[in-house]
Amino acid sequence: MDLLNTLVDKGIRRETPTREEALAVLATSDDDLLHVVAAAGEVRRHWFGRRVKLNYLVNLKSGLCPEDCSYCSQRLGSEAGILKYTWLKPGQAAEAATTGVSGGAKRVCLVASGRGPTDRDVDRVSETIRAIKDHHEDVEVCACLGLLSDGQAERLREAGADAYNHNLNTSEATYAGITTTHTYADRVDTVRRAHAAGLSACSGLIAGMGESDEDLVDVVFSLRELDPDSVPVNFLIPFEGTPLAKEWNLTPQRCLRILAMTRFVCPDVEVRIAGGREVHLRSLQPLALHLANSLFLGDYLTSEGQAGKADLEMIADAGFEVEGAGETTLPAHRTGGCGSSAGADSGCGSGAAGAGSGSGAGCGPCGSGPAEAESPPAEAAPGPARAAGEARTDLVAVRRRGAGTDLAPNA
Ligand code: SF4
Repeated sequence: MDLLNTLVDKGIRRETPTREEALAVLATSDDDLLHVVAAAGEVRRHWFGRRVKLNYLVNLKSGLCPEDCSYCSQRLGSEAGILKYTWLKPGQAAEAATTGVSGGAKRVCLVASGRGPTDRDVDRVSETIRAIKDHHEDVEVCACLGLLSDGQAERLREAGADAYNHNLNTSEATYAGITTTHTYADRVDTVRRAHAAGLSACSGLIAGMGESDEDLVDVVFSLRELDPDSVPVNFLIPFEGTPLAKEWNLTPQRCLRILAMTRFVCPDVEVRIAGGREVHLRSLQPLALHLANSLFLGDYLTSEGQAGKADLEMIADAGFEVEGAGETTLPAHRTGGCGSSAGADSGCGSGAAGAGSGSGAGCGPCGSGPAEAESPPAEAAPGPARAAGEARTDLVAVRRRGAGTDLAPNA
């Protein structure tokens, strides 16, 4: 296909595709799907080889959030039966982090529910970062604490944080339909604050909340402009007890197209398969490794992932290798820091503004449910014999182990 040849050339040159080209990727047929994966895979291998970076989530504080993000099981009024607990002690968090590092993770993502941290919260997290670094000097630590106020990003940086996550989640046009207690502009502001403080920015999206193809392209182009170093792509986990519980709009094929489009638009950025991969990609997860170069090991914030051992076996079986602690994730032109990339007019790599970080879905990222749908599902609900909107309790399991419990974490 001419489209795919063009996108491979642009990806290798870090040139921005046109919106029409990005939309065309999302509109490809199932007959062309493997061609799309192969083309985006060529761009992925050009910048990242066959390496897969593993990240490990530690939910420092779970539930009880005053914000109303519709996708999130920790939101105000959520009836999801998730674990609810207040701040883990630094030693508890470090213990959980050790499990992830032992499983092969080179980044630990410290996440807390809430609108944003108080200065006392930043003190707590700073102490936790130091406790982790005491045991694992080389591990990357990413904080994900919500909206940041003046000076907080700098204090986290001084404490040893390497990165900050705050996702844009969806397009600016649809943001107000997903969350009313803060704005899209608030999120952009936090990403920029993190970047300005010298933190590696991580900011991504959640697909499957009823958005259109245009919305998906909008948010990925906005991310390219913000120029994060990592872009987590979440697939909505429709939690019972959240407003988006019935949003089962994704198919494995659509998830692959979304990941491919993200790779073409942000070719030299760490694209991470985040929350929802087991639920929506299901048996096609290995194909997603040809598109993304990063994933979360083990469980998410409030839901369970597949066993960490299964993650490692999948990576090996698919012919990829876990990135070692001594290997640099990003291409050389990006390693001067977020937004330091040389060259080209390219977005994720040379972008104008700063960026934030994000794993799942902001604070509440990976592991929360989706929201209302403004448009009909782009594709059929998963499973040939299932009615649209049917709950999939077989696929969504609340996390009952690891941080905040007496049971061993999954890693
Ligand atoms: S995403 Fe974060 S801010 Fe929004 S409801 Fe969940 S925990 Fe709260």
